Amino acid sequence: MFVAENLKNVLAQLPKGVRLVAVSKFHPNEAIEEAYSAGQRIFGESKVQEMTSKYETLPKDIEWHFIGHLQTNKIKYMAPYVSMIHGIDSYKLLAEVNKQAEKVGRTIKCLLQLHIAQEETKFGFSADECRQMLATDDWKSLKNVKICGLMGMASNTDNIEQIKLEFRYLHSVFKDLKATVFSDSDAFCELSMGMSHDYPQAIAEGSTMVRIGSKIFGERNYN
Ligand SMILES: *Cc1c(COP(=O)(O)O)cnc(C)c1O
Repeated sequence: MFVAENLKNVLAQLPKGVRLVAVSKFHPNEAIEEAYSAGQRIFGESKVQEMTSKYETLPKDIEWHFIGHLQTNKIKYMAPYVSMIHGIDSYKLLAEVNKQAEKVGRTIKCLLQLHIAQEETKFGFSADECRQMLATDDWKSLKNVKICGLMGMASNTDNIEQIKLEFRYLHSVFKDLKATVFSDSDAFCELSMGMSHDYPQAIAEGSTMVRIGSKIFGERNYN
C-alpha cells in the first residue's frame, strides 16, 4: 500500500493549478494499478515500447505522457494513444510527430524541451534555438500537433539556489513566449518542471506540471 500512501502525500503538497504526472517508468503494472485505484490518471513513461505495453494492458482512461528522449522511428507506436509528449527538442521531431498524428487522425499535445541544466547530457533547445524555430513560422502549418508549453530539467545537484535559478529562467522564457509568439494561444499554458528531488522549488518558480517518480513508486530497478 505504500504507493497509494506516497501518492497521497505528494498530492497534498501540490497547490491548485499544479498537476501531477506520476512517473511509472521501470515499475510494473501492479504499481500503476495501485496509484490508479487511488485516483491517479496521468502517468509518465520514458520508453515507447514499455509505455505501449502498459497502455495495452491498463485502463483506457489513463493519460499517457511521454517524458523520455524521443526517436523519430518510435513515434508511430504511440501516436494512436499518447496524450502529451514532453521532450520535443527539434523542429524535425515536431514535424515527425505531426506526420504520425495525421496518419491516425489525431492532434498530439507537445511541450518544447529547453536545456536549462549545467550538465551536457540533458537534451533540449537553448532559448535562442527555440525562438529561432518559432520565428520561422513553419511549425504553424503543423495541424496535428499542439504546442502546449515548455518542459525542462534542472541540474542534478544539491545546490538549491542553482536549481531555483534554472527553474526561474525557464519560467521567464515561458512568460516571454506566452506574451509574444503564443499571445493568441490559450493552449500554451503548461510549464512542466520538477521531479522527486526538486519539485518544491519548481512549484515555487511557477510549475504547472510536476513529473514525480521515485517519491511515489520507490527506487527504480534498471535491470
Ligand atoms: C525519470 C524522470 C522523472 C522522474 O524522476 P524521479 O526523480 O524519479 O522523480 C521526471 N522527468 C523525467 C524527464 C524523467 O526522465
